[in-house]
Amino acid sequence: MNVHHPTTFDEALAAKAAGAVPLAGGTDLMVEVNFGHARPTEVVSLRRIDEVKEFEGRRIGSGVSWRRIENHGPRALAQAARTVGSPQIRNAGTIGGNLATASPAGDGHPFLAAVDAQIELASVDGRRTIPWDEFFVGVKKTSMADDELISAVVLPDSLPERHEFGKIGVRNAMVISTVCAVVTRDDQRTTVALGSVAPTPMRARRAEEMISAVSNPSDKDLAEFQRLVSDEVRPITDHRSTEEYRRHAAGVLSRRLLERCLR
Ligand SMILES: Cc1cc2nc3c(=O)[nH]c(=O)nc-3n(C[C@H](O)[C@H](O)[C@H](O)COP(=O)(O)OP(=O)(O)OC[C@H]3O[C@@H](n4cnc5c(N)ncnc54)[C@H](O)[C@@H]3O)c2cc1C
Repeated sequence: MNVHHPTTFDEALAAKAAGAVPLAGGTDLMVEVNFGHARPTEVVSLRRIDEVKEFEGRRIGSGVSWRRIENHGPRALAQAARTVGSPQIRNAGTIGGNLATASPAGDGHPFLAAVDAQIELASVDGRRTIPWDEFFVGVKKTSMADDELISAVVLPDSLPERHEFGKIGVRNAMVISTVCAVVTRDDQRTTVALGSVAPTPMRARRAEEMISAVSNPSDKDLAEFQRLVSDEVRPITDHRSTEEYRRHAAGVLSRRLLERCLR
């Protein structure tokens, strides 16, 4: 395996165009290599490139680690960051790697979906920015072209006043989500985005519409919101959970996060 260590993003883009596999924190890629699922011959490390580590205002470079997001990110994204793996994983793992892996259980994804973030992609031919829901196209599948790298995540100019992340797993720490979610509330406008309950991160639009029409939700409104979320998600049964449990947990978790936003 040849590992290239460029110091500029342009050099990394040229290596990608020539077929090299990108490596950021390596916390997903090296698992694949160690299990023999990936055998890259050319690897381009992004770790010495300052540009991808820039984190200014609403632009988060793809090479920004969970550790930094935990300390400096917007509330719900910082809450998500805090649940990713262990301190060692959070020091190495990046938001760009989390996006590129596109696991349905990626804890960074619901926040980006809830606030309608954009993903900036770059190649030797230039840059383009696409909405989150055009980036994720299936289980571990994205719309990135073969010669592209993620350069940054771009958040909207203003974030919702309240936003909360929550995750359910089989234990409290070092766990892959059975369900994860972000609920935002700004004045009355509510969004709810979920992970691990569909092939890609998803918004529960009917639940959003229903609860956004209510200024002071009653218990009955909250119960209806919970029911709609459970109804809208599209989970599967796998080794981590059953479809029924995920459906139930998605509704309960979203309702609890909404209640936190309302307090
Ligand atoms: C013990 C352990 C616990 C974990 N716990 C969690 C968890 O709780 N929640 C969670 O969501 N994830 C978890 N993960 C998965 C992983 O840590 C995260 O997905 C992390 O964000 C991956 O980032 P990375 O920089 O390490 O990616 P890497 O492993 O470097 O790369 C991942 C993939 O993305 C590609 N890639 C990397 N950077 C770019 C780029 N800029 N442009 C294009 N492609 C790129 C790589 O080629 C590779 O295919 C865990 C992993 C481990 C090993």
